Amino acid sequence: MDLHSSISHTVLSEDDIQARVRELGAQISEDYGDEPVLLIGVLRGAAIFVADLARAISSPVELDFMAVSSYGSSTKSSGVVRILKDLDETIEGRHVLVCEDILDTGLTLKYLLKNLASRRPASLEIVAMLSKEGKQRVPISCKYVGFHVADEFVVGYGLDYAERYRNLPYVGVLKPEIYAD
Ligand code: IMP
Repeated sequence: MDLHSSISHTVLSEDDIQARVRELGAQISEDYGDEPVLLIGVLRGAAIFVADLARAISSPVELDFMAVSSYGSSTKSSGVVRILKDLDETIEGRHVLVCEDILDTGLTLKYLLKNLASRRPASLEIVAMLSKEGKQRVPISCKYVGFHVADEFVVGYGLDYAERYRNLPYVGVLKPEIYAD
């Protein structure tokens, strides 16, 4: 089956996403002004979002990446987080903006924020492309959110199912038979 024919329906079109990323970029540029902002992309899901967002920001942008893994099944997060790749540079005294693909239970971000805050950045904020309604198990204050989405498993625009579908330019829901494979 080809990539697109595995999708049952689109949740956010490519145009919706690109327009919202431009808005987020404009808001972030206004908030940070001429201050350099360090975007930390959380791999692998946020890779595509951070690449687009960085180009929508007019403030000076620096980039770094972390890779984390959450133990559990492929569609549910367990809250146990392991750092697979740490930052390349120190964040002490810098304005950090963590870029996440999706805020689901919030457990991954809670762990990351605690870890990053202990490194004493000048400021620490979050931008999440998507936030799942009613799913947060821990309160996370996300300064910028792209879209609030319903509680269903979505793929595309960086989000995967079993490492596939990250390259869809839109966000959608998989056909049920895909999970049966
Ligand atoms: P949390 O710790 O429950 O907030 O989960 C965060 C991570 O789970 C995200 O960064 C995603 O990698 C993954 N995730 C949560 N919901 C989805 C989804 O609907 N599709 C794909 N990945 C998801």
